[in-house]
Amino acid sequence: MSGSGVDAVVFDWGGTLTPWHDIDLRRQWVVYAQAYDPAHGVEVADALLAAEDEAWHRSRTEHRSTTFDTIVRAAGLRPCGAAHERALAAYRAFWEPHTWTDGDVVPLLRALHEHGLRVGVLSNTVWPRDEHELVFARDGVLELIDAAVYTSEIPWTKPHPEAFRAAARAVGVGDPARCVFVGDRLFDDIHGAASVGMRTVFVPHSRIPATQRGHSDGEPDAVVERLAEVLDVVDRWR
Ligand SMILES: [Mg+2]
Repeated sequence: MSGSGVDAVVFDWGGTLTPWHDIDLRRQWVVYAQAYDPAHGVEVADALLAAEDEAWHRSRTEHRSTTFDTIVRAAGLRPCGAAHERALAAYRAFWEPHTWTDGDVVPLLRALHEHGLRVGVLSNTVWPRDEHELVFARDGVLELIDAAVYTSEIPWTKPHPEAFRAAARAVGVGDPARCVFVGDRLFDDIHGAASVGMRTVFVPHSRIPATQRGHSDGEPDAVVERLAEVLDVVDRWR
């Protein structure tokens, strides 16, 4: 490990800033599809799930990103108009219970700022920035985040090094080795962040499905049982 200091802490979102929930991924699309096209809800849901599976497979194997609208189009639907807006409202309601921020986050981010550190987010996501910002604003977190990179806005996904370099740049840190990354996936987060020289903190409470595991597990520099512990870990590294 390098002897450099720490200027920023970058967090993963799902399973890290937001506690892990087991999500029925087919159900989210059934909800969307039944609102979009009640007569063909089940077939449409299957097409959406297949399109999403394909997108995440590409993320895991080629580390290429995609967007929500691309998935909707791949299933033969139009991501605009009244049907889409109706479907999106149902989809948001499905997700709402699963997006609440961990109670440690507000005090932790405030403390990191008080210690002179910048705070970033890097999320593998198909959702647009607006969706994430609504969630962060609802939970009083948005104003505590200096910069966020959502992979729906860049070509790459974690663990691609370019995703991590983009996150470091976004928080104003030229050398990724001066960032700490906190995440719940040993491949996407820990292996990926370590590959650009970031120090890594693993949050070990997510039940990652076997089909979502990558080809190698990273070795974290630290493991925390809860996010509040991140402050002490980072202070030790400064
Ligand atoms: Mg995660």
